This record gives sequence, C-alpha cells and structure tokens, in this order.
Amino acid sequence: MSQDAIYDYIIVGAGSAGCVLANRLTASARYKVLLLEAGPRDRDPWIHVPLGYGKLFTKASVNWCYSSEPEPELGGRQVYTPRGKVLGGSSSINGLVYIRGQREDFDAWGVPGWGFDELLPYFKRSEDQSRGANAWHGVGGPQAVSDLPDRHELCDAFIAAACEVGIPPNDDFNGALQEGAGYYQATTRNGRRSSAATGFLRPAEGRANLTVVTGALATRVLFVWIYNNSGKSLFSMALCHWTFGLFWSFWPQDNLQKAVPFYRPHITAAAAVVYVIIVVFLWGPETLARFRFSRQTHTGTGGIRHRWWSTRR
Ligand SMILES: Cc1cc2nc3c(=O)[nH]c(=O)nc-3n(C[C@H](O)[C@H](O)[C@H](O)COP(=O)(O)OP(=O)(O)OC[C@H]3O[C@@H](n4cnc5c(N)ncnc54)[C@H](O)[C@@H]3O)c2cc1C
Repeated sequence: MSQDAIYDYIIVGAGSAGCVLANRLTASARYKVLLLEAGPRDRDPWIHVPLGYGKLFTKASVNWCYSSEPEPELGGRQVYTPRGKVLGGSSSINGLVYIRGQREDFDAWGVPGWGFDELLPYFKRSEDQSRGANAWHGVGGPQAVSDLPDRHELCDAFIAAACEVGIPPNDDFNGALQEGAGYYQATTRNGRRSSAATGFLRPAEGRANLTVVTGALATRVLFVWIYNNSGKSLFSMALCHWTFGLFWSFWPQDNLQKAVPFYRPHITAAAAVVYVIIVVFLWGPETLARFRFSRQTHTGTGGIRHRWWSTRR
C-alpha cells in the first residue's frame, strides 16, 4: 500500500466504534477513509463461535490482556482486564450480551440530542432483531440480535425463583423496562457472533473509499499548523504515524476551521485521529528551521502533546 496516500479521515482502532465510524463515513462516496487496527484480521475461528468467548478471554493474539495497576482497595492485587486487539475490537471477544444503556442514564446526562427517546431510533436502525420490529426494536440493521438457542432447566428454575421473591419477569431487557429476571438476547445471527467487524465493517470493506490496515499500531498524535508570514494559516494536514509507516490526510483551510478544536465528534474515533504535515517527518527539524519554521511544544487538554510548526514572525 502507498505510504503517501491522502485521506479525509484516519480512524485509529477498528473496534466497535471504529467499525461503525468507518461504515458511516464511507457510506457516501464523499470521504476517503483509512482505518488502522493494531491487531490482526478476525480470522481466529473462536471469534465466530459464541462459546469461543472463553477461549479468547486470555488469548494474546487477539486480546491486549491488560492488567490494572495494583489496587489499594484489593490489597494491592492487579485486576486482569481483557480488551480486543483484532478487527471488531472488544466486540470480537466479548460476552455477546445485548443490553442497551439504561434510559435513566441517557436522560440524566441532560445533553440535547442524547436523551433516550432521541437515541432510540438509532438503536432501532442499527439492529436486526430476530423477533421482528416493534416499538423498541428494528430489523434490517447491521447489528444482529437473537434469542439464545437453548433454555436450560436450571436457568428456568432460577428465573422462577427470582419471580417468587417479587422480581418481575422480563422477556426483553431492551424493552419498556430493564428491571426484572429473564433470558437476555445475544449479538448473534444463525449461531455465529455478530461483531462490529462482521456487522458494520464487512459491508463497507468493498467500498473503494475505505482502506483497512491491520497490524498497524498508531504511536503518536501530532497536530501541526503552518502559518505564512502574516500569521494566516495556510493549510493543515493530518498524519497517522504507526510502527510501520506514515499516512496522512489533508484538509484545506476551510475544512481545517471546521475540524478545530480537536475534539469535535466527527474527528474522534476508537482512539484518535491525528494531524501533522508530512514534511516534518521527511525534512526534519533542521530543514524546517532553514525555511524559518520554529517549533513549539504544548501539552493540551487530556495530556495530548501537540507540536506546532510556524514561520518565525
Ligand atoms: C471480555 C469482554 C466481555 C464483554 N462483554 C460484553 C457484553 O457481553 N455485552 C456488551 O454490551 N459489552 C461487552 N463488553 C464491552 C464491549 O465489548 C466494549 O465496551 C466495546 O466493544 C468497546 O468498544 P470500543 O470501540 O470503545 O473499543 P474496542 O472495541 O475495544 O476497540 C478498540 C480497538 O482499537 C485498537 N487500538 C487500540 N489502540 C490502538 C492503536 N494505538 N493503534 C491502532 N489500533 C489501536 C484495539 O486493538 C481495538 O481493536 C465486553 C468487553 C470485554 C473485553
């Protein structure tokens, strides 16, 4: 793959968020998108077998296998913390339980546009519910949701016991109420896992405006502006720098104005989107200094270090 390709968006991390974003951003032919994933493609057969969850829990080829820092509250113990490192991210290794966030939590945020009733159409649109569509569920979306294929008498007995002590039976934890005891639904289709990679990324991978690179660990986030002598920003480029190469994308000045500040939602992804001009890497600081560019380093919100290159004024 070309090392100097130009992209409108670089998404770092092909996990749940990254796969959805890659799908949505490439749905129209308007944007050219690069999706970088540190892990491999999701070829491990255990990913696609729901019970493979147990196998993947400690499998370093598809799992970061993190540990927490020593926890004082746990007598200094470190807590094992799995996270997906593969196309689909944690949705390729998770427990497949389909339970949406609770209505009260979304509503308590008090953020316009993010209340539960406003989000529900998006939940429904993303879903392919095996029970069919109703007020709470949708069909035809990329995320398959099904009932568990088997019911076990011990689980039936447990649910019955819960009901006996006053816990209401609940046949749908994503329906009118989340409270209750019952069987959950799973993110599966025809007995196979439906991850963000199989649901959202796979249909998008055939699009000419999406490039997916695996084994690509992004190592830096750099922000660069170039100014002319009158202080006007000429242009900005975005570059993703990972272990094996450099990729960059370019925003003309108008789009740059829209992209800054850095944390606008459309430039955030699983981990980050990065900005830098390629000449910083190709020419190096000395060459830039000869062209009267000087460097300032700044630690901004969230501790991200931005390197700024500007002409001396
Ligand atoms: C073991 C386990 C069980 C779970 N069970 C359930 C469940 O049953 N139901 C449920 O709803 N949720 C469950 N979850 C949680 C759910 O899967 C996650 O919340 C969700 O997948 C997180 O999505 P994400 O996009 O934030 O991150 P992830 O899906 O983790 O994606 C992040 C991606 O970014 C990649 N990446 C990270 N850093 C870099 C870098 N520097 N360069 C390139 N790539 C990078 C990673 O490799 C990964 O692929 C579970 C999670 C785990 C780990």
